[in-house]
Amino acid sequence: MTQSDTFLAAAADLLGPRGLTRDADLLAPWLTDWRGRFTGKALALASPANTGEVARLVKLCAKHDVPIVPQGGNSGMSGGATPDGTGEALLLSLRRMDAIRDFDADARQVTCEAGVILQSLHKKAEEHRLRFPLTLGGKGSATIGGLVSTNAGGTQVLRHGTMRAQVLGLEAVLADGSVLDTLTPLKKDNRGFDLKQLLIGSEGTLGIVTAATLRLLPESGDRRVIWAGLDSLQMARKLLLHCERLAGDSLEGFEVVPAHSLAAVLDHLPDARAPLVGKHSWNALIELVAPADEAEALGGTTEELLESAMKQDLLGDAVVAANETQAEAFWQLRDSIAPAERAIGPAMQHDISVPVARMADFVEAASPMVEKRFPGTRAIAFGHLGDGNVHFHVLAPAGAARGEWEKSEGKAISAYVHDLVTEWGGSISAEHGIGQVKRDELGRLGGPVALAVMRSVKQALDPRGLLNPGKLVPLAKDRATP
Ligand SMILES: Cc1cc2nc3c(=O)[nH]c(=O)nc-3n(C[C@H](O)[C@H](O)[C@H](O)COP(=O)(O)OP(=O)(O)OC[C@H]3O[C@@H](n4cnc5c(N)ncnc54)[C@H](O)[C@@H]3O)c2cc1C
Repeated sequence: MTQSDTFLAAAADLLGPRGLTRDADLLAPWLTDWRGRFTGKALALASPANTGEVARLVKLCAKHDVPIVPQGGNSGMSGGATPDGTGEALLLSLRRMDAIRDFDADARQVTCEAGVILQSLHKKAEEHRLRFPLTLGGKGSATIGGLVSTNAGGTQVLRHGTMRAQVLGLEAVLADGSVLDTLTPLKKDNRGFDLKQLLIGSEGTLGIVTAATLRLLPESGDRRVIWAGLDSLQMARKLLLHCERLAGDSLEGFEVVPAHSLAAVLDHLPDARAPLVGKHSWNALIELVAPADEAEALGGTTEELLESAMKQDLLGDAVVAANETQAEAFWQLRDSIAPAERAIGPAMQHDISVPVARMADFVEAASPMVEKRFPGTRAIAFGHLGDGNVHFHVLAPAGAARGEWEKSEGKAISAYVHDLVTEWGGSISAEHGIGQVKRDELGRLGGPVALAVMRSVKQALDPRGLLNPGKLVPLAKDRATP
């Protein structure tokens, strides 16, 4: 019996037939990332049923020196949940752990296991006339464990913050199999480091998230979803400031969609229609919400906001969704940009942020520079202008072969974009994390002190480098020599 046979036999004993498989057909869908950029191999797919099983499995992995790649819905954008090509790592899926352990409507808190899908949490909250204030295009697949581990953002960050702001407590299994339990939320707790914050955004490299206690908000009494046509991104920035001034706390989302992305979505979704008749270089998708007791006033605020924006030439044209179905249809246009762009052809995607006030200048300066430096490409920016975060995609020249183009040009393009972002004082990863796609770039461009601290933390919590090796932390060597 080889070392891995011994491990697999013990893991099968521990997890039972539902909890462990080596069936190639069952494994295949989970070995390639959502964007189709990375495909790996795994020793087996483990699907534990509860935290106790995760803890015992991690202990077993530590005993046999088996690396672990944690995985939720596999909707991540950075290849963080895809194992490498050696086939040595165990793919640890949390999807089976999808129970809502506790729902406290009075305290407005929910404790979910890691495998709960975001959309299911939204539904559960709605049943109690509450809401979970974070949403994103991958909500049908993304799990709470994945959202926590990537510190996901989405389209409501402007008002409610990223996942960091939603997590009140966390349960995680550490590299030695011990369970860190900070699930019970305390409003005030100054017992030293905030360990849950250390785990949030650590992409499975410091621990395996098994459950989280999350904050909920009262349901919105009403919302207004506006689609506005604009001449430029500068105009969008001015409109954003105008909305912030007039709508204050009611402003929940402010997304920008260039004409190219809207056209791509309309091609991709056969039943979709453009919200405005005329064509505009840019579009803004704006959402205003109000609690039940202020719902009536929201209509007036929206009208006033649009009228004054028109008078000040801050928008070309605008339409307010007439009902919920139309509001959802507007959001579907925004949420479908990623799959629509993916269907067009190869592209290098960059999830970047710069200070909000500089974003329009950045996009206007960087786009022609990239297109000149890499002839035939087209730079497209869309997304969360209100957060100073856009997805800056560089589309391949017409006819470029998928796979080959990225291999030959991709690295140089991304390095060029990341250098520009760094010069502008921004971040090479705003919300998608580092994973394997940006690990070397973080090593190249990250501040030496920040990198040294990250390496020390990794060394302290996972000295043998068994948790998600090759991801996030730019180490010279992932696995310390025993
Ligand atoms: C159409 C579309 C739109 C999207 N829009 C947005 C957006 O607006 N904003 C945004 O932030 N993201 C967005 N995403 C990306 C994605 O949905 C998020 O990154 C999400 O958090 C990933 O969750 P997941 O469960 O699929 O995690 P996975 O993809 O399975 O894993 C992501 C990372 O987390 C680790 N991980 C997963 N579960 C655990 C766990 N339980 N414990 C420890 N580590 C774990 C993995 O190892 C990996 O490193 C979008 C994705 C799609 C497909």
